[in-house]
Amino acid sequence: MFSKVIMVGSPVILVHGGAGRWTRRPGWEKRAEKALEVIERSLNAGYSALTENSPPHEAVVAAVKVLEDSGVLNAGSGSALNLLGEAEMDAGLMTSYGLVGAVAATRYPRNPVELALHVALDTDHLLVAGKGADRLAEVLGLQPRGETPPHVRKRYEEMLAELRMSGEAFRWRRLRRLAEKYGVAGDTVGAVALSADGRLAAATSTGGIWLKLPGRVGDTPVIGAGFYADENVAVSATGFGEIIMRAMASLRLAEELRRGAGLEEACRQAVKAAERFGGEGVIGLIAVTRWGEACLAHDTEAMPSGAMWSEGRDVDVRLASQFSKRSV
Ligand code: ASP
Repeated sequence: MFSKVIMVGSPVILVHGGAGRWTRRPGWEKRAEKALEVIERSLNAGYSALTENSPPHEAVVAAVKVLEDSGVLNAGSGSALNLLGEAEMDAGLMTSYGLVGAVAATRYPRNPVELALHVALDTDHLLVAGKGADRLAEVLGLQPRGETPPHVRKRYEEMLAELRMSGEAFRWRRLRRLAEKYGVAGDTVGAVALSADGRLAAATSTGGIWLKLPGRVGDTPVIGAGFYADENVAVSATGFGEIIMRAMASLRLAEELRRGAGLEEACRQAVKAAERFGGEGVIGLIAVTRWGEACLAHDTEAMPSGAMWSEGRDVDVRLASQFSKRSV
């Protein structure tokens, strides 16, 4: 397990580009470089919002929108495709001051995180799914997603062909084995922020797992699983949705803190809780507390991520192999 805690003070923003098996595919260094460049831009967008005194939910939405628009990561325009080759996206957002909104299995919006914010601000609901979410995005006049980029379509065709050639019948109960072989999870995006006045926000956005069943919804739009915020901490999670939901990983981290654990211990407990359901290599988390501590933790091969605060920034692919000596 890799985990790192930084004392950052406020304001601060952290973002991630998904926990997964980054080095499995050829040319991963180039992809990682691009992801880090996008993470830098996302941090700049989120941090500028914070320094202009925008509330932290605007900062996490600004940061996540950059990641969704990049096409490089598994969210928004770069979303992973389901078994039928369609993008069905999930996103969720929560703050320490009462805003909660999420959308699931939506196909329409370019920026699902923006739609989740509208659910929080403009409706009585917390989670809107499927065609209803699409319709809401249209009525609100949000920008449509547009065509799937060619490199995403190409990856879909390759994965499908590989799966067929392997002679394995497609059984979704083989989720884990498929993931190990083809790297179906990863590249989901998220952000957490602490404003100078001590308020917190978290947001997560994804296309979900490659070749998922149409209609499958993961942890990302589920409160307490893929995202969570209370008066102490804001959390964004990534990894195997089915496992993260069982562990309620983001809520667990917050509850550990409430029970008196330090941030690093709370992050580790959340990762361990997920591992009890799915073994190693299943989850990544970013979290920031109201006391100005930030944590990045994962038990996967890598989790490209970054933090930006008044005195510095820290952006890295965070390969587990590079950090094995530092992690316990
Ligand atoms: N958690 C996401 C899901 O299961 C996938 C990911 O984080 O890459 O939908």
